[in-house]
Amino acid sequence: MAPCTAVGVLPALLLCAVGASARRVTGVLEVAFDSDRLAGARLLARLPFSAITLGHIVLARTHACHRAVRSHERVHVAQYERWGLLFFVLYLGSSAWQLLRGRRPYVDNHLERQARRLAGDDDPPVG
Ligand SMILES: [Zn+2]
Repeated sequence: MAPCTAVGVLPALLLCAVGASARRVTGVLEVAFDSDRLAGARLLARLPFSAITLGHIVLARTHACHRAVRSHERVHVAQYERWGLLFFVLYLGSSAWQLLRGRRPYVDNHLERQARRLAGDDDPPVG
């Protein structure tokens, strides 16, 4: 298992322990709740993003959310494949750089802009 995917195992297991389910889609493990009405999904709805990718594991509020953000998150999977553990450094570094420049650390992050561009996303960002 790639080290970045290993980082995603614990949160995936925690979500599954409270009712989420995991599905393997195109070689990526997608973890989410089946319904927005479940307590765990309502809790995840408070986060400022729709999904998060950790190597080949993607966590989202619901499986419907996965369908909506799949192309964007697959770009992040490719970024992890390219950069490995350096992805975390690059992501945090880009966010810090944007913050220092008075920009938005998430929206203006280089890896997020690249994911939006390659996935053909509209603004605002999806995940
Ligand atoms: Zn993203």
